[in-house]
Amino acid sequence: MKKILVCGAGGFIGFHLVNKLKSQGHYVIGADIKYPLYGKNVADEFYQYDLRNPDLVKELVTESIDEIYQLAADMGGTGYIGTGDHDAAIMHNSALINLNVLHEAVNKHIKKILYTSSACVYAEYNQEDPSNPVCVESSAYPAQPDTEYGWEKLFSERLYLAHRKNYGIDAKVVRLHNVFGPQGAWNDGKEKAPAALCRKVAECVDGGTIDIWGPGTQTRSFLYIDECLTGLELIMASSIDQPINLGSDRMIRINDLALLIAQLNNKQVSIRNIDGPLGVMGRTSDNSLIHNLLDWVPADNLEYGLIETYKWIKEQVDALQ
Ligand code: NAD
Repeated sequence: MKKILVCGAGGFIGFHLVNKLKSQGHYVIGADIKYPLYGKNVADEFYQYDLRNPDLVKELVTESIDEIYQLAADMGGTGYIGTGDHDAAIMHNSALINLNVLHEAVNKHIKKILYTSSACVYAEYNQEDPSNPVCVESSAYPAQPDTEYGWEKLFSERLYLAHRKNYGIDAKVVRLHNVFGPQGAWNDGKEKAPAALCRKVAECVDGGTIDIWGPGTQTRSFLYIDECLTGLELIMASSIDQPINLGSDRMIRINDLALLIAQLNNKQVSIRNIDGPLGVMGRTSDNSLIHNLLDWVPADNLEYGLIETYKWIKEQVDALQ
């Protein structure tokens, strides 16, 4: 049994991670500026702390902690990170969190810390072709992320790697690609494509029309939360010392994702493609490195994940009606 701190424990991935670590018998400390919105916190201790505050982080991180998962960030889907309206806050807030948590982790001699970076670090110029995006780890440089969110992630990646090099802390940098599942943001402006599309399909009458931002030919890949948690734990336990992708490599066009959600739930919908923030034209995880280093790749359970996610979002939609 380990003592594990999860920063961002009130968020989507953090909430699920705390549940999993608890079910494995670990002693779990959660920290977040908010409690989980959609489920009961099961962490042994939970601190509703603003991690931008260095004094609170100093209190939170103690020598007895074995591992830290640092997931806290100011983030959201394209409607949040892709409009430009939140750029300053995103960069300022997330950089402060990472500076504080990592600094204290080094001060308190924490052995391992895992940082969740993002596929958003990848260069825009490699993601213009929807059918052939390049997202192999080495392609992050020369850097040209398409959002400030991506630039902050790159800065923080380098921060973790510099602390690994200078102070010997075993810092893991994981580039997550689009994780989805129940109990994530779905209607607060921070939702990502799978949740937004599940909501639109759930709210749509049979035979109705849903709006999708952009031409709908833009491609992405989607990783179900269960696979993400398995991958995070595997990477934490490994000797990996370089940034690594954790995502699905099954690309799907956004229009097709919406149609798949409808089809899985026996609904007919038409699509109207409208102007809106859409991000790069293509993105998918290149899983060669994780396959080579860990002899593992996430399972493809897109359909299963969409059924589970839709079920949960439909319940939320119905509860509001
Ligand atoms: P999330 O927004 O649900 O969780 C992030 C949590 O950080 C939130 O609960 C938020 O309240 C907390 N937070 C923000 N500012 C804080 C502050 N000042 N002090 C304390 N807590 C604060 O997002 P998520 O989907 O669970 O993502 C977790 C991590 O994974 C993030 O770092 C995100 O950038 C990264 N990531 C996620 C995805 C994805 O598809 N979900 C993809 C790439 C990277």
